[in-house]
Amino acid sequence: MGRGKPASSRNYLPQSGSDEYSVTEYDLDLRYRVATNRLDATATVRGRANTLLRSIRLDLVRLKAKRVKLAGDTAAKYSQTATHLVVRPSAPIEPGEDFTVEIAYDGSPAPRRTRWGTLGWEELEDGVLVASQPSGAPTWFPCNDRPADKARYRIRVTTEQAYTVLATGQLVDHTVTGGRGSWTFEQDEPTATYLVTVQLGRYTLEPRRSAGVDWVIAYPAPLARQVLHDLEPVGRMLGVFQELFGPYPFRSYAVVVTEDPLEIPLESQGMATFGPNQLDGHRTEERLVAHELAHQWFGNSVGLAGWHDIWLNEGFACYAEWLWAERSVGPTADALARQHHAGLRAAPQNLILGDPGADRMFDDRVYKRGACLLHDVRLTLGDDAFFTLLRAWTHRFAHRTATTADFRALAQSFTDASLDALFDRWLAQAALPPLPPAA
Ligand SMILES: [Zn+2]
Repeated sequence: MGRGKPASSRNYLPQSGSDEYSVTEYDLDLRYRVATNRLDATATVRGRANTLLRSIRLDLVRLKAKRVKLAGDTAAKYSQTATHLVVRPSAPIEPGEDFTVEIAYDGSPAPRRTRWGTLGWEELEDGVLVASQPSGAPTWFPCNDRPADKARYRIRVTTEQAYTVLATGQLVDHTVTGGRGSWTFEQDEPTATYLVTVQLGRYTLEPRRSAGVDWVIAYPAPLARQVLHDLEPVGRMLGVFQELFGPYPFRSYAVVVTEDPLEIPLESQGMATFGPNQLDGHRTEERLVAHELAHQWFGNSVGLAGWHDIWLNEGFACYAEWLWAERSVGPTADALARQHHAGLRAAPQNLILGDPGADRMFDDRVYKRGACLLHDVRLTLGDDAFFTLLRAWTHRFAHRTATTADFRALAQSFTDASLDALFDRWLAQAALPPLPPAA
């Protein structure tokens, strides 16, 4: 990844995805054996050409295409490299024209190694998780792997009957035949490839309804006590976050707790995944429970157009942690902002928040500086205007993508005083700006 990338490039993943076409829908039929880690699958990808399309380049890692069909074109050819599947129509596809590719593929899926660690389809001790941010999706399905290309999904997973399957979307069908269970999910809200997931394990399902939202906890039965205790605040978080950020953007929320410990929890569309180490029965990591839930508004519904704007995901989710503290057991967001600002002052000041670079996308300073920026905006606008701004943001860009420029313009509409200096200080300078005095 990143081979030959000029230092000034704002595309952090130039080898991933294509802007020559957009996908409208993925229909994935996955037949999988946990015992042997064997995947035998069919993906139907429906897309539209954005330009005169001489070839359709899909990201696909490790898995082998066995048969590729381009609807209406029996003479189409295809070829495959270690990271891509390229389909060549017999005649170019005109701009605006729709196409459908059906790909039968198989193999033993495994995570890909990247500068951000191993990503994608990953075997657990007794199950599977998928954690793709930012470039792991092609380890399990052929896709246009760029965050701006959101699509609808239908995912069918067939596996050993003993396992519970959760995947992106609403469960619309579950049948058991010959010792194998089939689970079908449909996700109508546009979804970025990196946020699509499959979680498979010997899970107990605990359905809940809080603040008008259906949500479910999936967990290994022996962990019931610690998991249910630590996730109990999610119900109140759903109430507080809807008040602060606007309506919950999806039809449901699922929290999956794996049996294996995880380095970090992660968000996916309508879902979050934790290890038992993050839910230890003492609510030690309650901030992370709030953080992953907040991503449903910031990152998942309002999505990134490009990875250089990652602070729009992580700065907002981090600030949501502080807001949750303020609205629950404390301390205030102001106290937390000042505490973390002191930490940032002691850290190296060599990060540009508005374009941190591929290596520093997930640097903790992106999270904390982004949250401090938002606190500065809150102190500058006042609480009423600031929270109206947050709700306007999640409403205007719901299920779309947005940029830093979009946020600046929207924030500016709440005051006559120019916010340019504030945003420039935080986004374009390496030196850490001061926080204004508390309101
Ligand atoms: Zn996050």
